[in-house]
Amino acid sequence: MSKVSIVKTDCYDEAIIAADVRKAVELIGGMASVVKPGDKVLVKPNFAAVPLDRLSGAITRWEVCKAVMDLVREVGGEPFIAESSAAGVDTEKVIEACGYDQLREQGYEVIDLKRAEKTVIPVKNGLLLKELNTWKPVVEADVIISVPVMKTHDQTEVTLGMKNIKGLIGDTQKKWFHTAGVQEGVVDLNATLKPKLTVMDGTIAQEGYGPLFGDRVEMGVILASTDVVACDAVGGKLMGYEPEEVGITRIAGKIAKIGELDISKIEIAGNTIEETARVFKRSSQVEIPGLPDFKLILTEGACTGCRNTVISAIMDMKNDGIEHTLAGKTILVGPFDQFPEDVDPKDIVLIGKCTMKFRDRATFVPGCPPNNIFVERGISGIEDVKRRYSTEGDVD
Ligand code: SF4
Repeated sequence: MSKVSIVKTDCYDEAIIAADVRKAVELIGGMASVVKPGDKVLVKPNFAAVPLDRLSGAITRWEVCKAVMDLVREVGGEPFIAESSAAGVDTEKVIEACGYDQLREQGYEVIDLKRAEKTVIPVKNGLLLKELNTWKPVVEADVIISVPVMKTHDQTEVTLGMKNIKGLIGDTQKKWFHTAGVQEGVVDLNATLKPKLTVMDGTIAQEGYGPLFGDRVEMGVILASTDVVACDAVGGKLMGYEPEEVGITRIAGKIAKIGELDISKIEIAGNTIEETARVFKRSSQVEIPGLPDFKLILTEGACTGCRNTVISAIMDMKNDGIEHTLAGKTILVGPFDQFPEDVDPKDIVLIGKCTMKFRDRATFVPGCPPNNIFVERGISGIEDVKRRYSTEGDVD
């Protein structure tokens, strides 16, 4: 039976956090059950991009990674942190902004994978992938430990243990995922790289417009499991999401069958879900003030990918100072049969594959879901809109 530990902890105190990381790992069998003496152990935090604040819940805390590395050392393993930030983001800037350079000074190895030697490995029976573009330190590791931070995500609802693994592939493949199928791609990654342990940093989490610009949540929990799907199912549940609502968890548990997503079949150790859960504001629930009048029509069949992509694109338009171009627009998302004859076609923007049959009648943005930047271009009519982290469509 898959087991997930939940341990309530302090949001700020390094010593208490370290003790509770230890407790969470001990509750699921201890580090010695995962790491053998001499193993090279890749500790994988989330370094998505330079956050507004190191304690905004966007980036895994160094305190949690350090505690994990100390446990690995105690059982004779050789830990190192390895990560690549989102496409187009300099990982070293995240390392510096989030205090990981101090870990280096204390003798902990922190590798920016974007500067490491590249390699390609095959993917067996992938849902999406035939091969992975990764790096030598990833394939040379005996053990991978995923250390995600608990947060919402504008395209995948949440980003937890499995999505965190996306930092172990190159930028080009990261970007491609979001046009080809990010959920299936992430599941293939986990089925291939097989993280043996997940330690989830839920000390300071993020809700709302994650994965970068959301609001801090002083959640105060650490989760651990050797089953990354079970860990994500429980982590999501603590945030108010049923496991089947999260595409990555659902596909991993039901289609790829690489772990357990049924919470009734997961043993919970330590604190209970009821003691620690808190309903997070979802990315799609974020209201953006100060916008001109426009119509956003989300039909019943519009799925989360398109919903969140459109909302994040509108948010980016505001950040880019081009929100005035929304005035008078009608944005259609999801499958529909009746073209709105009462609206001037030049004011209509059709989003995604579901609207394709009307592509010759109005501005059409292809994709399933489309990349944020194409949505922004389609709505604004401005071709050279600024590329921001979130418009890359591939921030973890
Ligand atoms: S285009 Fe794709 S992602 Fe968008 S609503 Fe249709 S099926 Fe969903």
